[in-house]
Amino acid sequence: MLKKITFFFLINLTFTVCYSQNNLSSKNINMTKKKIFKSEKEWKEILSPEEFRILRDKGTEYPHTGKYNLHFENGVYNCKGCNTPLFNSDQKFESDCGWPSFDNAIDGAITYVDDFSHNMIRTEIICTKCDGHLGHIFDDGPTDTGKRYCVNSISINFDKKNNQKDE
Ligand SMILES: [Zn+2]
Repeated sequence: MLKKITFFFLINLTFTVCYSQNNLSSKNINMTKKKIFKSEKEWKEILSPEEFRILRDKGTEYPHTGKYNLHFENGVYNCKGCNTPLFNSDQKFESDCGWPSFDNAIDGAITYVDDFSHNMIRTEIICTKCDGHLGHIFDDGPTDTGKRYCVNSISINFDKKNNQKDE
């Protein structure tokens, strides 16, 4: 029984992901970037077990443990799975929620997916290019955008060299 429910849930989730992406692609030209598809085996070859658990199995790192939680250098945060730039450092703000938090994202880099898991209604954020799980977005951000992109440190990789603030 449980297996059956899980199966239907997965089918539904897949549909939701596809639907959200199609919906977004008509609005955003950045979505025309080539997507990355890899098998579970291929992802396991390039990701550590913990990276795989979070990026591909939609896990969550423990709060206040991630390396970018209190990290505020100038630069760009790229997707750990495919290296696509997702957030600029000037979109990051200090949040006490325990995970790196951003008030906006690089155009077209993020896809938004309805998430009804754990008896909650949330919006999951995934990398548009590789579908890697990043975290969730909430409407309680303290800045003008009102948004809080709550992201696992493990899902991202900071790049100082690509700093878009320093010319
Ligand atoms: Zn990615």
